[in-house]
Amino acid sequence: MVKRLNKLIARHVDTSQFPVKATVRKDGVVVLEGEVPDWKTADELAHRVAKSKKVRNVINHLSCDGKSLAYIPKKDLIEQGRALGTFDEADVIIVGAGVIGSGIARELSKYNLDIVVLEKGDDVSQGVSKANNGMIHPGNAVIPGTLKAKLNVEGNALYDDWASDLQFEFKRIGSFGLSYDKKDRYTPWLGWIAGRLNKVPGMRFISPDVFLEMEKDVEVRPRRVLYAPTTAYVDGFEVTIALAENAAMNGVRFHLLTEVVDVDVEEGVVRGVVTDRGTVKGKLVINAAGVFADEIAAMAGDQFYTLHPRKGVIAIFDKEKKGPDRSMNGRPYVYQKNTKGGGVQRTVSGNPLWGPNAVEIIDKTDLSVQPEDLDYVMGSGSVVCPGTKRTDIIASFAGIRPADYKEDFIIERSRVVKGFIHVAGIQSPGLAAAPAIAKMVEGLTADELGELTRKDDWNPIREKPVVFSKLSPEEQERLVNENPLYGHIVCRCETISEGEIVDAIRRPIPAVTFDAIKRRVRATAGRCQGGFCGPRILEIIMRETGLRPEEVRKQGKDSYIVAGTIRDRYDAADCCETRASVGIADGVAQETGAHHESA
Ligand SMILES: Cc1cc2nc3c(=O)[nH]c(=O)nc-3n(C[C@H](O)[C@H](O)[C@H](O)COP(=O)(O)OP(=O)(O)OC[C@H]3O[C@@H](n4cnc5c(N)ncnc54)[C@H](O)[C@@H]3O)c2cc1C
Repeated sequence: MVKRLNKLIARHVDTSQFPVKATVRKDGVVVLEGEVPDWKTADELAHRVAKSKKVRNVINHLSCDGKSLAYIPKKDLIEQGRALGTFDEADVIIVGAGVIGSGIARELSKYNLDIVVLEKGDDVSQGVSKANNGMIHPGNAVIPGTLKAKLNVEGNALYDDWASDLQFEFKRIGSFGLSYDKKDRYTPWLGWIAGRLNKVPGMRFISPDVFLEMEKDVEVRPRRVLYAPTTAYVDGFEVTIALAENAAMNGVRFHLLTEVVDVDVEEGVVRGVVTDRGTVKGKLVINAAGVFADEIAAMAGDQFYTLHPRKGVIAIFDKEKKGPDRSMNGRPYVYQKNTKGGGVQRTVSGNPLWGPNAVEIIDKTDLSVQPEDLDYVMGSGSVVCPGTKRTDIIASFAGIRPADYKEDFIIERSRVVKGFIHVAGIQSPGLAAAPAIAKMVEGLTADELGELTRKDDWNPIREKPVVFSKLSPEEQERLVNENPLYGHIVCRCETISEGEIVDAIRRPIPAVTFDAIKRRVRATAGRCQGGFCGPRILEIIMRETGLRPEEVRKQGKDSYIVAGTIRDRYDAADCCETRASVGIADGVAQETGAHHESA
């Protein structure tokens, strides 16, 4: 096999200048090492190697301009964590609170198991689960025979139960695969064939007239239309928070701002993990760390894949803008590999959404949006809505697909470490497949820990939070009589009451940062961006949590809203310097400082 791989390498890289080496491990995993001229070469080579016969997967240690995807242990944090000692102990430790980790936590919370979820972000859903299209794909855009295809179709069907139990917004209204002219005439047919092989229910061709009747805002007449009625739409963050809240209600402990930096394995058996806050003992580690899952696998001594970050950029438009309700492909004017091509749709809350594109990058944390990303998104979408301009975009963001070089999900028990389950490579359609992934991991957990016994008091229902502005006047009046805090509007731009903010702080996964509150109830998301309501929200967080003003954060570890009170600092040091140093984030600045000075 080495000979074959060396030939392949020589076809991609000038090995006299760039000595790239492939090593084949006993388990069929190929490790690529050396320097490459550019990242595109590394990506193409690793994909080609992954397609070679008998290759289980690829570890990409190639470097480019001194950067690579090789795992480097965080020695300082490992030492720090070990020195801090054990702060929790559980049967099951889940790493990562995205839709996958939270879904697994909720599924396992049915059983008599002690479960903790460790998440390095300051809230759940801080990875790609909050930065996606929110489509519950039907399963006709995935390669038949893959695990992705199987779990996509199964997961899609399970979403009705999730939506009714967990009470998140869910619209099952279908999607289209279109061809516009001769050049893309095969697009709907490919969807049809894949859908048939994957057993997607209800798919059918419809006439362009019926299509235009269903989607009155579409300005072009397609040649052929494939309709997939099972496609649905959700908000990835809302699904994740609902899962996490329900898991927490059923006894799962979530430790936020807790980064796993090592996995303790003794004689081939997992004993727990080391985090930057101390150690957690446990019998089973479930690795649901998104794009960092390959690093967690390396920590456990069982890395057999590299996750290569593939960025996708999405553009959002005002709700008033014209556009179809259901997803449909645009016409990519530049072919990009490993993407469904992006297109045009509406979010579950009604904003037109275009994209994404697909760009291989080397930095897993690079969420920048480049002009060429938006060129692609606009170029692809404008075939459906030619009247929409780039200046109509009200927000754009990037998400990172955690892809392995086999381009499939990796969900399996470790072959070398007892007590470790890989849930990696969960790129699109990971959100759609999430319920089926949770069920599959439930089975693997039973294989690891033995028969699981059901709890008698498991409660599948998570109550939807109150959205005061959407209630009828009678309901609003009743609620205000019960709790006057609902009658006190704090965020005037979005009409959010104090009652809703207090609810967000008191829910099973408490929202105690400005951004966590914004994500749940939209306070500070309006026109004033918190300039008016920020100081009130700060006060409410302090009152409800007992935090001091300088302990309240916007998001993340060190994003404090207030640096101190002006008077203390003013008295203590040179006045001009001190005034300048009292910094408050995101437009909350002057009011908050002034408030505390006069308080
Ligand atoms: C642009 C784009 C559009 C997409 N659209 C769709 C779509 O429409 N439909 C669909 O089905 N799928 C879609 N996807 C894919 C989908 O978003 C993902 O498959 C899914 O969200 C993956 O969830 P996850 O929980 O595995 O990952 P994440 O949400 O990234 O969660 C992993 C978590 O692990 C945490 N973590 C990482 N390392 C550590 C550590 N060391 N210690 C503690 N915590 C750690 C992270 O902070 C993160 O919160 C899209 C993806 C992209 C990029």
